[in-house]
Amino acid sequence: MTKFTDLNLNAKVLKAIEEAGYESPTPIQAGAIPPALEGRDVLGIAQTGTGKTASFTLPMLSLLARGRARARMPRSLVLCPTRELAAQVAENFDTYSKHLKLTKALLIGGVSFKEQDKLIDKGVDVLIATPGRLLDHFERGKLILSDVKVMVVDEADRMLDMGFIPDIERIFGLTPFTRQTLFFSATMAPEIERITNTFLSNPERIEVARQATTSENITQGVVMFKASRKDREATEKRKLLRLLIDAEGEKCTNAIIFCNRKMDVDTVAKSLKKYGYDAAPIHGDLDQSQRTKTLEGFRNGELRFLIASDVAARGLDVPSVSHVFNFDVPSHAEDYVHRIGRTGRAGRDGKAIMICVPRDEKNFEDVERLVQKEIPRLENPLQADVPVAEEATAEAPAKTDDKPKRTRSRSRKSDAPRAEKTAVEKPAEDKQPQAEAPKDPPKPEAQPAPMQDERKAQRGGGNNDRTPRGRGRNDKRGGNDNRVVGLGDHTPDFIGLSFRERI
Ligand code: AMP
Repeated sequence: MTKFTDLNLNAKVLKAIEEAGYESPTPIQAGAIPPALEGRDVLGIAQTGTGKTASFTLPMLSLLARGRARARMPRSLVLCPTRELAAQVAENFDTYSKHLKLTKALLIGGVSFKEQDKLIDKGVDVLIATPGRLLDHFERGKLILSDVKVMVVDEADRMLDMGFIPDIERIFGLTPFTRQTLFFSATMAPEIERITNTFLSNPERIEVARQATTSENITQGVVMFKASRKDREATEKRKLLRLLIDAEGEKCTNAIIFCNRKMDVDTVAKSLKKYGYDAAPIHGDLDQSQRTKTLEGFRNGELRFLIASDVAARGLDVPSVSHVFNFDVPSHAEDYVHRIGRTGRAGRDGKAIMICVPRDEKNFEDVERLVQKEIPRLENPLQADVPVAEEATAEAPAKTDDKPKRTRSRSRKSDAPRAEKTAVEKPAEDKQPQAEAPKDPPKPEAQPAPMQDERKAQRGGGNNDRTPRGRGRNDKRGGNDNRVVGLGDHTPDFIGLSFRERI
């Protein structure tokens, strides 16, 4: 087995590695470090969790150990898609460069230009940046990229997803043609292939694990979930999430809960908090200090549930996540691999549970095709739980998607939906069950069990035609019973009486 000492790294870097407690290089490190130290371009196809950050940081530090940076002319550049990832890379640099006298600057949004300019003015060996922020500095005339000797592009596939490829191409063009490039991506989409063909020169290609590989020590499961009524989907889905969390009990020490949309990240976080779960959201629209605080809290175990979007969570290195919950099936199948890769790290056991609603079934098929195995179906704990109306009543006041207009307009017509409207608007804690109950509660048969309703929904009947009036209308339309409509052959006696005679 390769040892770090076989890799020709700088002695001070080796010392820092030893202090970090690493025993041997990971496959991506063993593959990328030697060619990188020789000055060759590297194309690393690897996902987070494989040790890829060190696979470019360690050789870079060894190469930069000699020499000094000039003012405003960084000697190396690392481009990352998100601020968190950039901050994480910066942390890695600090860890591995602790015995070297190298300087670094982190150029990310949410940090003042002034502070960053000051550092750049002094001259930095390593500049770690998100592409947009780097170009902002460049355009302000504060940065000269003509002395960049090594350039790293990390998580290139995510850059592609986020629309950063034109920025990356521009930055490539601003650095010297002779620079060394270390390029990392979890997948090789055609656009990524094109970039590497254009900007890398005869790279050493190292592929450590197929993008579709999910770790064997992650137990996976999916709940195929259909709401009792379309307008209750969001509410019931959040309840289902709580039940799934509760079912894991103490085994769930901490978890990342992924949502596809930022809006849902907020709603789910709010709802969980309302129910007493220790939860906080992280997504791109939150301000930087809040994101950093949330992330730190989650890392050091103060926060139990991190609700995240893909972009915010991409590349986050949180070593011991016991669970990943996919509140939504990701719309890009590869994201499933990235998401569940947050758990089961470094040989630990992990669990990944996903909720799949009918409209996500196509995406779910894509996920199963990608990972090339069937994800075990889990029982839906909601089916064994409280009736739907009760759940709606108990739901926390989510501001966004669980107040469809249809519910509101119907609420004027009948008592039961009115109770439902109250439910989504008032905090659960505030409510007295008595006050909640509809004045005129529906008869038992008018309150279908979730499964009955589900079948109705499958037939395309989104509206619950539960009122007697509704039933009557349906009966008439049926038309195949033998009842006589009108008077038929029988004429009651009073019809023959003369009004005139009586008067
Ligand atoms: P990364 O893929 O860069 O996000 O790294 C994932 C985790 O692996 C980080 O917590 C690193 O500190 C850790 N790591 C990196 N290289 C090694 C190694 N050779 N041995 C053990 N852990 C490592």
